[in-house]
Amino acid sequence: MKALSEYFGENVFNESVMKARLPKETFKLVQRTIHDGKRLDSAAAAVVANAMKDWAIEKGATHYTHWFQPMTGITAEKHDSFISPTPDGKVIMEFSGKELIQGEPDASSFPSGGLRATFEARGYTAWDPTSLAFIKDGVLCIPTAFCSYGGEALDKKTPLLRSMEAINRQALRVLKLFGNEDVTSVKTTVGPEQEYFLIDKEMYDRRKDLIYTGRTLFGAKPPKGQELDDHYFGVIKPRVQAFMKDLNEELWKLGILAKTEHNEVAPAQHELAPVFATTNIAADHNQLTMEIMQKVAKRHNLVCLLHEKPFAGVNGSGKHNNWSISTNTGVNLLEPGETPYENAQFLLFLCAVIKAVDDYQDLLRISVASAGNDHRLGANEAPPAVVSIFLGTELSEILEAIENDTPYGAKEKELLRVGVHVLPKFPKDATDRNRTSPFAFTGNKFEFRMLGSSASVSGSNVILNTAVAEELKQFADELENADNFENAIHDLIKRTISEHKRIIFNGNGYDDSWIAEAEKRGLLNLKTTPDCLPYFLEKKNIDLFTTHKVFTETEINSRYEILMEAYGKLINIEALTMVDMASKDILPAVSKYLKALADGIASKKAVSADIDCTYESDTLSKGSALLGSAYKALGVLEEKLDEEKNISDVTKLGFFCKDDLIPAMEELRKYADTLETITSAEYWPYPSYGELLFGVR
Ligand code: ADP
Ligand code: MG
Repeated sequence: MKALSEYFGENVFNESVMKARLPKETFKLVQRTIHDGKRLDSAAAAVVANAMKDWAIEKGATHYTHWFQPMTGITAEKHDSFISPTPDGKVIMEFSGKELIQGEPDASSFPSGGLRATFEARGYTAWDPTSLAFIKDGVLCIPTAFCSYGGEALDKKTPLLRSMEAINRQALRVLKLFGNEDVTSVKTTVGPEQEYFLIDKEMYDRRKDLIYTGRTLFGAKPPKGQELDDHYFGVIKPRVQAFMKDLNEELWKLGILAKTEHNEVAPAQHELAPVFATTNIAADHNQLTMEIMQKVAKRHNLVCLLHEKPFAGVNGSGKHNNWSISTNTGVNLLEPGETPYENAQFLLFLCAVIKAVDDYQDLLRISVASAGNDHRLGANEAPPAVVSIFLGTELSEILEAIENDTPYGAKEKELLRVGVHVLPKFPKDATDRNRTSPFAFTGNKFEFRMLGSSASVSGSNVILNTAVAEELKQFADELENADNFENAIHDLIKRTISEHKRIIFNGNGYDDSWIAEAEKRGLLNLKTTPDCLPYFLEKKNIDLFTTHKVFTETEINSRYEILMEAYGKLINIEALTMVDMASKDILPAVSKYLKALADGIASKKAVSADIDCTYESDTLSKGSALLGSAYKALGVLEEKLDEEKNISDVTKLGFFCKDDLIPAMEELRKYADTLETITSAEYWPYPSYGELLFGVR
């Protein structure tokens, strides 16, 4: 067994491999491409491609693929082998610079929201050299962006890279004002904490709802759920431990810095967190992590559920997006500094984030919107659908002192002057143990906690990067023209706090009184996916994306369509699955059980007319009534599904799903779940919640 330090990153074409295998000159060019975003010329690309191919073949790879992230939310790959025929009937292994840089997957079936007319349905993939190539299952995977021939983004990576450029551009302007001449690039960093469930594969296989939709659509509450909190950080079961060990090894080989793992709140729920990385790499790695979790689980006869709400009544799974901004000189711009100047810079970046979150609450909400996540937000297990920022008492008091020109703290006499005074030290630990805030400052980064577990982190980071870029742009525009920089920065910070403090909330986000308070403050409360998506098309948002060249208006329209359509399709699949399960399994099983009860009563009465049959007859009549109600609810759901067929407009469809289909689904589930509680386990067609949640030992 090799030591971890030996096999870490062994399947990655990383800088040390490149250094060893590339001519010095080419290596230098590649480094400039990776770190400074400089274009790699075609001659150098050919050299890199050849080295990459030799390395991959030595490692047993036979194929390569342009690995990309279409709007389906999962990664896509189409494998091409390296072989190329020779005149003598043999083959040689080839991989050209052109094949490295650009690919043409037949991609006409990926969602495009009407972006690609059929005559140019192919689209192309373009190498993202900032994210390293790797080998997975004998295939050399090249991270790529996916665009139409018109140049429109068809994937999740393209806008993310564009948004990173946007924030780089504006942050550099601001940093220049502070005299940071040595800083040449600024990148955002992300560390996503990933939650998931593990259940036994045999039980999974017996649940159509899990197979088709990733969540249970029926299921009565088990006698025990998460009320004892005895799973959280509890001892990890041997079978799960074996899975985690295997998973870590796979991730480490791919250079993914899996760092912490523990049991989460709900039974069968776990979490994995990596060390943070540059945002687009973190996004690629999280995508890979989710894929490998599912693959490794199967090897252990387990299934890894990434759905946001696999089980009603116990916590669902989220993803915490830890986010910060760093310079190429290694300074974390969200880390309070030691000197007045550093403090002023920190406060300015902090204010940019505060203003961004306030101005673009709607976009942040949209970035976490999905049918699955609608079950969590605001359900007292995840932050509410209202976006707000937690800063902690100390930092809030500092901002208050600046806003009101008052001394900070009881002992201080002097007014807090930005750019002149050093910020009082505040203990890092005090900054955050509030788990209920959607967007919390945690000492040197922000933690955005509204993401669903299955989401790509790209969406949220596109919004964060772009929105903060816009605020930095406004700040730079103002400060670049200031006569007195120090006064200008003080005034700017003061004004920003006063205009945007409504978004700051340090209390309990799960409290109903907060929702009322948030409404008074004029904050948005967009409860569901159809409720929030239309905000994407608002003028201020189109302006934001087009100004920073992150999305064109056409791309925004296409994304809106894709997201709304995906919501409708998903709810539709869930509804159809419920109809299937109810009509083919649940109702027939109950009917059979009721017949058994009736037969039982008849046989007993045959023995003696006055024998006690209360259990059988009570259950029979209760069950029959419920069965009747369930049947009626099933009929209503079927009617709604018929009605749905006549709706073609995606927006109307989304709202129909939310307002008509979902309530009909809930009604059917209500009767079916009650039936489960009175039906003999022997007759019930599916493994129970108890078996699913406590089945892995
Ligand atoms: P915890 O939340 O358990 O206290 P940490 O706050 O140390 O743990 O880290 C949580 C996650 O935040 C980890 O994935 C970590 O890598 C990430 N993280 C830490 N610093 C940064 C940063 N500067 N930028 C982005 N993510 C970060
Ligand atoms: Mg955390």
